[in-house]
Amino acid sequence: MQKINKLLVANRGEISLRIMRTAKEMGIKTVAVYSEADINAPHVKFADEAVCLGPPPSNQSYLLADKIIEACKDLKVDAIHPGYGFLSENAGFAKKVTDAGIIFVGPSPSSIEVMGSKLAAKNAVSKYGIPMVPGTDEAITDIQAAKVKAEEIGYPILIKASAGGGGKGMRIVKYEGEFEEQMQRAISEAQSAFGDGAVFIEKYITSPRHIEIQVLGDIHGNVVYLFERECSIQRRHQKVIEEAPSAVVSPSMRKAMGEAAVKVAKACNYFGAGTVEFIVDENLDFYFLEMNTRLQVEHPVTEMITGKDLVKEQLLIAEGQPLTFAQEDLKINGHAIEVRVYAEDPKNNFLPDIGRLATYVRPQGHGIRVDDGFEEGMDIPIYYDPMIAKLIVHDENREKAIQKMLRAILDYQITGIETTLAFCSFVLEHEAFVSGNFDTKFVEKYFSPDKLDVKWEEAEMELLASLAVDVLEKKKFGLKRVSGQNGISNPRTNWKNRLI
Ligand code: ADP
Repeated sequence: MQKINKLLVANRGEISLRIMRTAKEMGIKTVAVYSEADINAPHVKFADEAVCLGPPPSNQSYLLADKIIEACKDLKVDAIHPGYGFLSENAGFAKKVTDAGIIFVGPSPSSIEVMGSKLAAKNAVSKYGIPMVPGTDEAITDIQAAKVKAEEIGYPILIKASAGGGGKGMRIVKYEGEFEEQMQRAISEAQSAFGDGAVFIEKYITSPRHIEIQVLGDIHGNVVYLFERECSIQRRHQKVIEEAPSAVVSPSMRKAMGEAAVKVAKACNYFGAGTVEFIVDENLDFYFLEMNTRLQVEHPVTEMITGKDLVKEQLLIAEGQPLTFAQEDLKINGHAIEVRVYAEDPKNNFLPDIGRLATYVRPQGHGIRVDDGFEEGMDIPIYYDPMIAKLIVHDENREKAIQKMLRAILDYQITGIETTLAFCSFVLEHEAFVSGNFDTKFVEKYFSPDKLDVKWEEAEMELLASLAVDVLEKKKFGLKRVSGQNGISNPRTNWKNRLI
């Protein structure tokens, strides 16, 4: 057992802050790292100490493994928490950290390595009777042989890069005629994006749901599951809304998925927090997709329904302590939903919309949590992921949680940039979401930019007119008008407060 007295968080933004808050509560001193773009960021201000890593691009700052380890030695840091993204799933980094005598808050380098390759992961779990999507379990070297296999599986099929991640490196092949061309493209894309051209094929599940299980394991071999997260609302194969529990998972399915996830974790001697991802078809049959060997962006929904602080558990496990609870101690309490607030324009293909947060007022109230890393007036840097915040709500049941989230979104005031907030309201109000009957195709099936266009009700028009008069009056008396770039274009994000 090795006590952690000082922790360096090798990350930025909301996740860096989120980790340091828990560390502080546990009496652990915190060290932030930052790039020149983040010099005034809240995570830097929050930490007890902070180290500048270099210029804004992440390969000159947040990805500099050696510099981060050097900083740990200089500041006598005991442990590094990598957050998510950046170096979090880099087995080489985890090894360097451990070799330097510093605790890596995460699994062993070998677990990261196995689960970092989709093919190695499939092989590792194959002995344990985990259901897997029909497909090849080796990298494709012979295109003709792969074509025969594709015929056997049946079209459509999905070509996946073994080293792929973040929804990148996937290609759907609808019929035999396009197989060769798509395969060549997939291999060269995988090679240039991941430096590894290994690809394999899988049956393409046409109406899939993405449901994942949170696991926690200690170094003594205990592993528990903390139920599921429903992550099917995605754009570009990337999640935007997550919830726990899932509307379609019954207690028996939950138990079966949870136990399968524990087996996956045990297959690679896993310790720490991890997520086992499954794809679920129309018949609610589930298949293992991959394991993410880090804290997930969407972990707060699990924290809300279980009452467990996952970062605290990660830190205790990293100190070598046994899990403080058993499977039977875990219960689901109510329902939690998270929406990811991205600086993206849903009306323009979800393209990043970088700029200054002219207005930034968070929603408040019972059962509402905002994990973010920005303040009003700050610029969203172009160098990193454009996520501004995660808005999480918790209530007694799904219906109440949806209502609470709609209210929280209305109270969230952001101007200066476009965000995914109005889009999230659209999803939460949609009949398919409300009924629970949706899959990962939600956006392509139901969403088009015009869905966010305002249909002004008569009463709203009247109110608008009276507010306009008010503004003119104030102008007459020399009062300054505060304007938001988005103006009144979107009533879903509390337009009344934006006018004056
Ligand atoms: P990544 O590592 O890039 O996140 P995943 O294997 O986790 O890749 O898949 C990401 C998403 O792609 C899933 O959430 C799902 O929406 C879709 N997907 C993956 N495999 C399949 C499949 N066999 N059939 C249909 N959709 C799939």
